Amino acid sequence: MSKAPPAAPGLHLDSLLAHGGGGFDAATGAVVPPIPTATTFVRDENYAPVSADHIYSRDDNALFKKTEGLIAALEGGADSRLFSSGMAAVAAVARSVPPGGTLLVQSGIYWGTTLFLRKLCARNKVALIEADACDRQAFLDEISVTRPDLVWLEVPSNPFLKVADIKSIAAQCKQAGSVLAVDATAATPLILKPLALGADLVMHSATKALNGHSDLLGGVVTTPDAASDAWRFITEERKLAGAVLGSFETWLLLRGLRTLALRVERMNANAMAVATFLATHPKVDAVLYPGLAGHPQHELAKSQMQGGFGSLLSVLVKGGKDDALKVAGALDLFQRATSLGGTESLVEHRFTIEGEGSGIPENLLRLSIGIEHGNDLLSDLDQALAGI
Ligand code: PLP
Repeated sequence: MSKAPPAAPGLHLDSLLAHGGGGFDAATGAVVPPIPTATTFVRDENYAPVSADHIYSRDDNALFKKTEGLIAALEGGADSRLFSSGMAAVAAVARSVPPGGTLLVQSGIYWGTTLFLRKLCARNKVALIEADACDRQAFLDEISVTRPDLVWLEVPSNPFLKVADIKSIAAQCKQAGSVLAVDATAATPLILKPLALGADLVMHSATKALNGHSDLLGGVVTTPDAASDAWRFITEERKLAGAVLGSFETWLLLRGLRTLALRVERMNANAMAVATFLATHPKVDAVLYPGLAGHPQHELAKSQMQGGFGSLLSVLVKGGKDDALKVAGALDLFQRATSLGGTESLVEHRFTIEGEGSGIPENLLRLSIGIEHGNDLLSDLDQALAGI
């Protein structure tokens, strides 16, 4: 099974995506790959596998390989592994830290990741340090003093949309001997390439924009160095712990990826329009979006990201919790649901989910911007804000 997508060299990534990684099914000429359903594969009379690449489906299958090859190409990486969810991918990376080791994680990121790392580290006697990665010098100092086994960033962060300086953090990690992993879910590999900035691993919840249709759970990790210790651990972990993506979900993901470039273009343009509209709205206190000139890391975001700033933003509405919930409740087009990166726009009151002590402002609404017509999104927000 070849990892490299069999497509013409030098193709733009948009073209590679449109062809689902390229190539066709060798047996039939089909332009869409079949869904491999077999879990096990036969051996011949001499007990040699009929196909050396096909033994048992927890290890690998041709569709995983094709999809992983496409994602590795998107990331500018050497190899990728799909997982059964974003959290399964987070877990495989995090478990690479040995008992007694140290893990430094950016504070104020996706709460599921934070929660998992807190529990894992407590159980495994791993020292967990949580620090603001956008307090750049303090974060760099933390790395050089504590020399963590693993540093975990989320760029942009969910739901605060902070943008950490991947390049300088990667350089410090190299000096300290730390592995740097970046969750770039809210950006997509089309607009942020952490490996090119020096990260050792990049991770995505494929549940979000990579698939883009809110109909599967998946995760993916990519490396620039398939011979690294970290990658050996992660590939073994996927195989032995068995957090593999199902074949049908992998097929859906590959289908979703065909339209990623178009979706990202529209979502980014819509998000920029929504952020710009809300930034001067009289019922809004603040908009958190790295595409806005007033964002504290706007210049950094401009230099790290290409072609947009993502489809996730947060808005602090004027007033408190009740006002935010009233706006969420009055939206007609935005669906009130968690998650992000789908074709449909979503609104979420994160304080309701994370609660007291979470540090989430009570008047914060997180918006995941979809591919609807931009004017409809602005009208819906305007009419909902008019009610407070
Ligand atoms: N990373 C980020 C930034 C997320 O927002 C999420 C989920 O919301 C995850 C990871 C976890 O992904 P999944 O829900 O696919 O397990």
